[in-house]
Amino acid sequence: MSRLVMKFGGTSVGDVERIRRVARIVAHEKKPGRGLAVVVSAMSGETDRLVALAREAGGEHSNRPAIGGPGFDDEYDVVVASGEQVTTGLLALALRQMGAPARSWQNWQIPIRSDSAHAKARLEAFAADTLGPAIDAGEIAIIPGFQAVTAQGRITTLGRGGSDTSAVAAAAALGAERCDIYTDVDGVYTTDPRITQKARRLERISYEEMLEMASLGAKVLQTRSVELAMAKRVKVRVLSSFIEPGQPNPGTIVCDEDEIVEKQVVSGVAYSRDEAKVTLLGVEDHPGIAAEIFGRLAEANINVDMIVQSEARQEGRQNLVFTCPDREAPRAVETLRAARDKIGYEDLHVRRDVAKVSVIGIGMKSQVGVARTMFSALAAKGINIEVIATSEIKISVLVDAQYTELAVRALHTAYGLDAA
Ligand code: ADP
Ligand code: ASP
Ligand code: MG
Repeated sequence: MSRLVMKFGGTSVGDVERIRRVARIVAHEKKPGRGLAVVVSAMSGETDRLVALAREAGGEHSNRPAIGGPGFDDEYDVVVASGEQVTTGLLALALRQMGAPARSWQNWQIPIRSDSAHAKARLEAFAADTLGPAIDAGEIAIIPGFQAVTAQGRITTLGRGGSDTSAVAAAAALGAERCDIYTDVDGVYTTDPRITQKARRLERISYEEMLEMASLGAKVLQTRSVELAMAKRVKVRVLSSFIEPGQPNPGTIVCDEDEIVEKQVVSGVAYSRDEAKVTLLGVEDHPGIAAEIFGRLAEANINVDMIVQSEARQEGRQNLVFTCPDREAPRAVETLRAARDKIGYEDLHVRRDVAKVSVIGIGMKSQVGVARTMFSALAAKGINIEVIATSEIKISVLVDAQYTELAVRALHTAYGLDAA
């Protein structure tokens, strides 16, 4: 007996016609000796609509406690999780109408457990003891993505894009041969195909590269889903839900590095516009100051990313630059202003019209000159680099947001990624 997990994103289940096509794809994959579990997202636009409704009822975002905190987020989750529940029923109905045995499983019926960090909960356990035998007996299980229940039985959601993580968790728990993520593109591309027509579909990508791509802005897979797949060795395939069953649809396999024969120096270019740059000028230079600043930011639940420290012109002073998600910038500024006396800095600036552009590739580990190619390509387009950050397999730069697309296209060409 083998098992397969399939996941369909919002656009793929955007209306009843599309849900019927998904039902045909699912029915096509149902084979004797193979159990099927299908994870679905809310219909496209539905989660945004529900979030807006919850905000309308619960007050403006600025009045709400930090996300994940107590107060509003548990009820926000009750509202927002309903989108996926609707899709489970609709897909089960469409499958039954085709004569396929399907039933929906809500998160508490499985159960799928998480911690109680509402709106950004982490999965803790995905039970397979009832679900597994049910699918082995031939029933197609339709499961809502993006959600779980706490030990107290309260509904949680896993953060935007979280259905990918639900699907990988299902595949790990069920010991599935693979987790097929069906979406509105036919695989993982060298860069977001919406930015350039020259982007190419990758046949394979390593977990490490996919993890960097996702965390640096390529939202084709949620970052946590890749982390989980890597930790649990779940083979993931990304493919199109717009191709009729039976037609070629190879997609992209996310797998171990050693399963990739030809390693590219750079496999992809990612970007994120959700960035802000905060500069602290003339910070007193003594041990413990960075701990003080970043400790306060951590307490305020601010996700700091790039950090650069440099000597200021005055003796005994430093300048400190860091980036954080744009929506967290006002809170970062508030936190630092409130602690000005304690930290001791001269001035504070924030720029919110910045973007992060990154190149990613495992081949970088053993190649010199990768950074030079990046800097030269950007210089040739007159794009100024504000901050640089590197790791073994990626280089990121912060640039003026108006040059995001230009930078992505220039780098895509410079690293020889353009489609012929
Ligand atoms: P779903 O609703 O199926 O979860 P998402 O919208 O979350 O789909 O993710 C698919 C989108 O990710 C694509 O439409 C594409 O614009 C975007 N994307 C960004 N970077 C990439 C990339 N490198 N390869 C493929 N798609 C990408
Ligand atoms: N529906 C949720 C969202 O829009 C989860 C998902 O689609 O993965 O974020
Ligand atoms: Mg998604």
